[in-house]
Amino acid sequence: MPANVRHLLSEMEVKYVKGVGPRRSEALATIGVNSAMDLLGYFPRRYLDRTRVFKTKDAAAAMLIPEEVTFVGRIKSVQVTRRGYGRGVMLITLADETGTLRCVWFNAVQYFANAFKEGEFIAFSGKVTAYRDLPCLIHPDYDHLEDEADEDFLHTGGIIPVYPTTEVLRHSGLDSRGIRRIMRNLFTAWDEYQLPPDPFPHGILSTNSLLALKEALSQIHFPSDEKQLDFALRRFKFEELFYLQLLLAIRRNVIKHSPAVRIKGPGELVTRLGGEILPFKLTGSQRKVIQEIVTDLASGHPMNRLLQGDVGSGKTVVALIAILMTVENGFQAAFMAPTEILAAQHFATIRQYLDTLGIKASLLIGGQKKNERAQIYSGIEDGTTSVVIGTHAIIQEKVRFNRLGLIVVDEQHRFGVTQRMALQNKSELLEGEPHLLIMTATPIPRTLSLTIYGDLDVSIIDEMPAGRKKIKTALRGEASRAKVYKFIREQVLAGRQAFIVYPLVTESEKSDLKAATQSFIRLRDEIFRGFKVGLIHGQMTEAEKSDIMLAFKKNAINILVATTVIEVGIDVPNATVMLVEHADRFGLSQLHQLRGRIGRGVHQSYCILMTEDRYIDEKKIRTGEDATARQRLQLFTSTTDGFKIAEHDLMLRGPGEFFGTKQSGLPPLKLANLIRDRDIIAQARRAAFKLADEDPHLREKLHSGIRDTLMKNYKESFEFLKAN
Ligand code: ADP
Ligand code: MG
Repeated sequence: MPANVRHLLSEMEVKYVKGVGPRRSEALATIGVNSAMDLLGYFPRRYLDRTRVFKTKDAAAAMLIPEEVTFVGRIKSVQVTRRGYGRGVMLITLADETGTLRCVWFNAVQYFANAFKEGEFIAFSGKVTAYRDLPCLIHPDYDHLEDEADEDFLHTGGIIPVYPTTEVLRHSGLDSRGIRRIMRNLFTAWDEYQLPPDPFPHGILSTNSLLALKEALSQIHFPSDEKQLDFALRRFKFEELFYLQLLLAIRRNVIKHSPAVRIKGPGELVTRLGGEILPFKLTGSQRKVIQEIVTDLASGHPMNRLLQGDVGSGKTVVALIAILMTVENGFQAAFMAPTEILAAQHFATIRQYLDTLGIKASLLIGGQKKNERAQIYSGIEDGTTSVVIGTHAIIQEKVRFNRLGLIVVDEQHRFGVTQRMALQNKSELLEGEPHLLIMTATPIPRTLSLTIYGDLDVSIIDEMPAGRKKIKTALRGEASRAKVYKFIREQVLAGRQAFIVYPLVTESEKSDLKAATQSFIRLRDEIFRGFKVGLIHGQMTEAEKSDIMLAFKKNAINILVATTVIEVGIDVPNATVMLVEHADRFGLSQLHQLRGRIGRGVHQSYCILMTEDRYIDEKKIRTGEDATARQRLQLFTSTTDGFKIAEHDLMLRGPGEFFGTKQSGLPPLKLANLIRDRDIIAQARRAAFKLADEDPHLREKLHSGIRDTLMKNYKESFEFLKAN
C-alpha cells in the first residue's frame, strides 16, 4: 500500500491486521470484533504486574511488603480435605524452579477444585500471609495461563495485559498471548493507519485532564507503568460515564422545556381528604414533599420526580394527594405497582377514599375476564374512569387514555431512564407529556442515584409518622423454635397478627413451594391449632390472592404463611410479627422490605430471622459464602436504617445485581465501577451537564463526534436528536 494512503482504522476489516487473516477474523467476529478499531476496543481483562512477580523461594520476604504479589508456576498438587458434596479446605501446591508455595481455600467445594489440574501453568496473585507457620496465599486470584510459558510472558518487563478469550478464539490461536501479538502488530504499523478523530474536543480533554484517544489506547494495551495505565483507564471510564450523564442531561433539558398540563391546587378534593377522611395528620416531611409536587404540577412542564422514603414512611398518601389534584383539574391518573398483589392492595385502600369523594377508579391486572377488561378499557378511553391502578400492564398494553395527566410508579427503584422515556413518550395527550412521580423505599446511595436517576428531581420523606415504635429484630436458631411459636401465639391472643415467610427464589421453584405448603399444613393443624392460619403464594390466582389479603387485612386470618409475594408494599398495621424462615437465603434489601411489613401501626413489632446455627455462631465458619450470609444477617439485626442497609447491599452485590441489570436502564459499564469511581462520576456529570447547557442539541461542529457516539449508543432513545 502506498505510504500516503492511510486507512481509517474503523473502516479497515480486522482480517487485514497482520497476523489475523480470514480464519482468525471469523473467530474475532464471534466476539463482535470486526474492524481494526474494534480490536483496539477489546480491552485486557486484567494486568499482571511483572514488577511484582515473585519466585516461590522469596515468598517469606513477600510477607513483609504490603502489596499483592504474583507467583507463576505449575500446579504440583490439588487436595481437598473433605471430598464429596460437602465443603472442605482446598490446598494447592504451586511449584516453580526455585521451590513450592501453598495456596489455601476454606469452604471450597469439589467442583471448584476440579477447575485446577495438576501440571497446569498458572499465576496466583494475592497477599502472602502465614498459615500454620508457613508463607501461603489465602483465596488468591488466579489466571490459567495455558501455554503462556514462553519468553514473552516470563521475560517481558513491566505490566502485562491479560485478555479475555473464548473457546473459539483459543481454537484459532488467539489466547491471551495470541491477542497480545496481533495487538502489537497493529501498534507497530500504527503510523500507516489513521485513528478516527477523538470525539472529545480539546477543551473537554484538558479541563478533565484526560489522555487523548491515541495515547490512551496505546497505554491500555502496552502500559509503560501503572500510573500511565491508570491514567488511560480513567479516560475510558470517564467516557462511559460521560455519555450516560449526557443522556440524562439532555433528557432533563428536554423535559424542562416540554409543555405539560398545568395542574393547579390543591383544591376542594384535597381539603376534604385532609379534613374529613384521613384518619391521621400528615407529618411535616409529607407536607414538605407535597409542596414540592404542587409546585411541579403547576409549572407547565412535566414533573419528573423521585420520592424516596423508607418503608412505612407514608408515601401512598402523598401519591393520593397528587392524584386528587390531577383529577380535580379534569385529568386522569395512572398508579403502577410492581406486583399484582400490591396493585390490588393500593386499589382497595385508595378506592375507599375515592368512593367517598365520588371518583371512579379501576383496577387493571392479569386474569381479568375479557369483557370485564374491555369495559375497563372503554372507561379509561372515554374518560369516565379517572384513576387506573395496576401493574406495568398499564403501559405495556394497548390502554388508551382520554386525558392522562399523571403517572405514579410505586416501589420501582429499577425504573431506569430508558423505561421512563418509553413511558412519557407513550402518552397520547395533546397538551403535553404527563407528570411523573416515582416512589421508592430503597434509599439509593448518592453516586448511584446520580447515575440512574440523574435526570430526576428528588424529594425525601425523612420522618416517620408519630407514635411508631422501633422494630425489635432477633436472629434465632432451631433450638429456639418452640419459644418463637409460643411468642407468636401470645401476640395473636393479644389481638395482633403475624407473617411467616418462606423463601421462594423463583415462582417456578416447585420444591420450595412444596416446602412452604407442607409447613403451612403443619402450622395450621398442629402448632397454631385453634387460630386462623392462611396461606398465600405466587401460583394462586389473582382472585385467590386478593381474597386472602383482604381477609388478613380484616383480621379474619391471624397468621399468614407466605412466600415473598408479600415482600413489597403490603400494609396491615395490626401485624406485629414477621417470622422469616431460612433467613440466610434472603438478600438484605428483601429482608428490609419484609421487615417493613410490620411496625406500621402503634404496636411494638418484632422481626425474627430463623436460620441454621452456623449463620449465628461466628466460630462455625470463617470465610466464604456462608460467612457473607452471616455478616449480612448480623448487620441486619443491628440496624433498621434503610440507608445503611442499602449501602451494604450494594457493596455485597455490586450495582448490576442491586438494580437488576436489565431493568436498570443502565447500559452495561465495562470499565467504570459505580462504587469505586465516584470522583469520575462527579466529573463526568459536571462536564456532560455543562455541554448540554451550552449546546443542547449538539449542533456545533466541535461536538459532532460526541453527538455521533451518543446516537450510536442510544439509538432508540434519541429520536429527538435526529428530529432537531
Ligand atoms: P410506604 O411509604 O412504605 O408506602 P404507606 O404509604 O403504606 O408507607 O404508609 C404506611 C402506613 O402509615 C399506612 O398504614 C398509612 O396509612 C400510615 N400513615 C401514612 N402517613 C401517616 C401519618 N402522617 N400519620 C400516621 N399514619 C400514617
Ligand atoms: Mg408503599
